Amino acid sequence: MIGNMETNKKFGLYVHIPFCVSKCLYCDFASVVKNNTLIDEYTAALCKEMEMYRQPFSQSAFDTVFIGGGTPSCIPIDNLRRIIESIYKNFNTEIKEFSIEVNPGTGSKELFRMLYEMGINRASLGLQCADDAILKSIGRIHNVPQFIHTFQEVYSSGIKNINADIISGLPGQTKEHLIKSIDLAASLNAQHISMYTLKLEDNTPLKESVMKGDTILPSEDEEYIMSAAARGHLLSLGYQRYEISNYAKEGYECVHNLKYWKRYPYLGLGTAAASMYLDFRFTNTPDIKKYIEKINSDKFAIEEKSTLQDDEFFFEMIMLGTRLAEGMEYRKYDSFSPFRFKDKYADIIKGLADEGLIVPSDTHLILSEKGMDMQNNVLLRFMDED
Ligand code: SF4
Repeated sequence: MIGNMETNKKFGLYVHIPFCVSKCLYCDFASVVKNNTLIDEYTAALCKEMEMYRQPFSQSAFDTVFIGGGTPSCIPIDNLRRIIESIYKNFNTEIKEFSIEVNPGTGSKELFRMLYEMGINRASLGLQCADDAILKSIGRIHNVPQFIHTFQEVYSSGIKNINADIISGLPGQTKEHLIKSIDLAASLNAQHISMYTLKLEDNTPLKESVMKGDTILPSEDEEYIMSAAARGHLLSLGYQRYEISNYAKEGYECVHNLKYWKRYPYLGLGTAAASMYLDFRFTNTPDIKKYIEKINSDKFAIEEKSTLQDDEFFFEMIMLGTRLAEGMEYRKYDSFSPFRFKDKYADIIKGLADEGLIVPSDTHLILSEKGMDMQNNVLLRFMDED
């Protein structure tokens, strides 16, 4: 085992709520259509899972919490209250950032006020695109006025640090749609914008429709051109690109998500939730019924466990580090490695610099804007070398 110098870091806690109002056509996340009986059983299991982790993590401090999904804001207010109370009861929290995912068209003033009063200080809202026809074509339950309404309700509850998620490459989407989506989020005072490219996942209705020719997506080139324009627009509005898909006003980077990219430790609870500590990874079952059964019979719901091998560990460090605008620190890599990164990869680094894929730095491997857009291509070169 290699060990990890980040053991002194505080933990992040991720809590998964696998329920949604309905299933979006492109979604392959671990979520199902909500059902109140199942939500009650799941809430009880989740609170019990927290109790089961209480002892093993009694010496650890948690400074970020992220309640994600699914759609956490679609479950009854009392269930969410119990889940949040259970977090505070079972873990040593020294909260810097407590986030929750909220989907437009769900939640209420009462819910958002309760969340704020219980210490939630960040919300992430799925806008996806500021165009009702496009939202409908991908099976989202909300329209643009509902997004605005939910955003304003969250904001006026006291939660001022709000992210808006935007997807590029949607059916019928143009550069103008993306710019309009960014302008809408910015006009509402979103401090953070995440912009992802649509990934056509297997076994989703959207993929089936595209395969049949019933839905046409922008080509790769068109998507590239529109997201490049969107990136420029984000920068012009003062959002800094601090990670490949994430932009924030200064001081509003997502502290919890930074833990994933910086390889700081985190514990994931609920279905499909992943955890990392040192080189250990473990992931809970994605099956809700199985999860509830396991926890109810006093067993952890872990389905996969692994320990990273040396080559995986080093590759992961490059892969995650180069997602960040600050890049991967050579010194950090070298502290684990029998060789110096800059010596071993001297030819590759020179090639990347000649092609404008990295920016000059003596201390970090930093991808340029172009390099970030071609990160997979950059990573392949390090893979080929090993
Ligand atoms: S709201 Fe999110 S998690 Fe739920 S179905 Fe839609 S994309 Fe999937």
